[in-house]
Order: sequence, then structure tokens, then C-alpha cells
Amino acid sequence: MPRTKSLAALIQQHGDDRGYKPNLNKIPMVYKILNRKLFKNQLKKMPKIMVRRMHGALGLFEFNPYALKYCHQITLHHKFKNFREFVEILGHEMVHYYQKLILKQNSARHNKEFYSFKKKFEKLGLDLKRVYQ
Ligand SMILES: [Zn+2]
Repeated sequence: MPRTKSLAALIQQHGDDRGYKPNLNKIPMVYKILNRKLFKNQLKKMPKIMVRRMHGALGLFEFNPYALKYCHQITLHHKFKNFREFVEILGHEMVHYYQKLILKQNSARHNKEFYSFKKKFEKLGLDLKRVYQ
């Protein structure tokens, strides 16, 4: 049995010059890799993840304490420049989830704790920044 592909292998396989449309069935696999590599598996409970066309953003993290099932939700834009960008945005929104769930910060901000993940992102060949163009 082949072991789970590394993130680097997945990124290389998809190539940086091809657009990527996130597939709801594949997101959990990437989520699990990022959870292990970036968050020491502290984000075991997956938030609700949605994909839709968005304006002015590629990703969004929301917290709704009154939601029936999922208080935490990540929304992803329906298409990305490439697979790597999709992984960067999912990772970015997962940092906001970490800030809320683990650090108990009131709102998802691009603060010191947010940027403390920058080096870990870089080790995976990913960029962590406030806005992606
Ligand atoms: Zn953000």
C-alpha cells in the first residue's frame, strides 16, 4: 500500500501553472495533512467547509455560536490560480480556526499569533499573508 502522499508531492503533481477547482471530497485529505504538519493535530474536529464563488476574497472563516451543528465555518472560493494557492488559503483559514478554537481569541485577526505560523508554512513551500492576489 502506498503511504499517504506528502504535501510537496501533491503540489508538484498538480503543477503551479494549472488552475484548481476545490473538490469537497478531496478537501478533508488536504485538511488532515495541514492539521498534522501545522497544528500538531489540534484541529481534529473539522469545521464546516463550503465552496462558492466569492467576491473580494479567496477564503473566509466565520464563527457563529448559534449555529445548530457547526459553530465554525470555512468558505473557499470556487477556483484558485493553482493547487498551491488553494492549500495556502485553506491553511490561512485554519490558522483563524486555531486562533478561535485553541487560543480562544475573540476574532480572527492577522496578529502576532497569526504570523507565528509563517515559518511553518514556509517549510511546506506555502506563503502565509493577509491578502492573496
Ligand atoms: Zn485572514
